[in-house]
Amino acid sequence: MIIRRVLLIVFCFSNLFTKGQNDIQISSDFPGGNIVFNKISVDTVWLKPDLSFTKGDWFYWYFKISGISGKNIIFKFDQNNVFAKYGPAYSINNDFTWKWYGENRIANNSFSFSFSEQDTIAFFSVAFPYTEKNLNDFLGNLKNKKLLKSDTLCFSPENRVIEKIIIPSLNAEPKHKVLITARHHACEMMANYVLEGIIESILNDVNLTSLRNQVEFMIIPFIDKDGVENGEQGKNRIPRDHNRDYDGKSIHNSTAAIRKLIPDWSENKLKIALDIHCPTLNGRYNENIYNVGQSTYEIGKNQIIFSKFLEKNSIGELKLFHENYLPFGENWNTDKNYSQGMSFSRWASSLEGISIATTIEFPYSNVSGIMVTKDNSRVFGKTIAYSINDYFVEILKQ
Ligand SMILES: [Zn+2]
Repeated sequence: MIIRRVLLIVFCFSNLFTKGQNDIQISSDFPGGNIVFNKISVDTVWLKPDLSFTKGDWFYWYFKISGISGKNIIFKFDQNNVFAKYGPAYSINNDFTWKWYGENRIANNSFSFSFSEQDTIAFFSVAFPYTEKNLNDFLGNLKNKKLLKSDTLCFSPENRVIEKIIIPSLNAEPKHKVLITARHHACEMMANYVLEGIIESILNDVNLTSLRNQVEFMIIPFIDKDGVENGEQGKNRIPRDHNRDYDGKSIHNSTAAIRKLIPDWSENKLKIALDIHCPTLNGRYNENIYNVGQSTYEIGKNQIIFSKFLEKNSIGELKLFHENYLPFGENWNTDKNYSQGMSFSRWASSLEGISIATTIEFPYSNVSGIMVTKDNSRVFGKTIAYSINDYFVEILKQ
């Protein structure tokens, strides 16, 4: 496993006297790293996503390159459809700010990048990576973090903590409960920036005082924790996708733990279960934010109400338009898509007392023509928090 991930290729440019700092080195041996390095020739490197444990193609990749000072390097991918609208995301010299390289930078699955003399190291990825370190940094700096309890859902097969964050109601007894999950598919990193916005709003937004008073939240930020840290795709995982592991005997620790814990934790107070995903890279259902409709009539009806609240509360740059709601039975959202097993939201929709169980698809790079950033993703998290509040106030008459 470790050996497979350490893809370190050293190439000396034609100068035999070149010292180590001028060698190009590409690696993925860090949290979230993923790349297969195929070959290098002068100033061109050939790469592709590491599809280990994945059925079919997927597009997550994230690598580090050094030995770049003053060079113009061409990156060629030996796989189609591995870039979103605004090209690759990158971070230079460990600044970890992450930017999109820009539109129209990709030709024939490749891009070139000119590094300055000062550049020594760069990270490139399909979008803005998010691993446990990002979560810890976020929680460390969070205002009013004392109102939140970091706990453990269970341990992963590789013995990592799978976090369970509880935001208790300020009232001694919560009236309602809400469950929010992300990273059933390890690669879907942008979901976590939205989650940050939700948490921040619940804890600190003055308009959400009554929500804070009455509702307890449970948030599970990394369902496939090993996949996130190991840099795996997670989507269409072999032998079973985490988001198809909610019927029969669950094979994953986190899904088994959720199925055991949630009915007890709920005490019939769980009203809303949200699962945040990212779709694929291009096209209508990949470049708009939308809810994925459930097959159950009652839940579907409530999802539509929630989707309209999301549109109304889309106060930031990234907006959800209800016209993009995907009813059950349309496009990819049919029974055929769930033939491998039950999804989280379908499972959650069967829980006693639940009112909404929904999947929210949040794009990697482009939302209805607007570039996705960390900040505007967080603002969309606020949109979700406000919509949860509206649902309790206007529909459940909290
Ligand atoms: Zn997903």
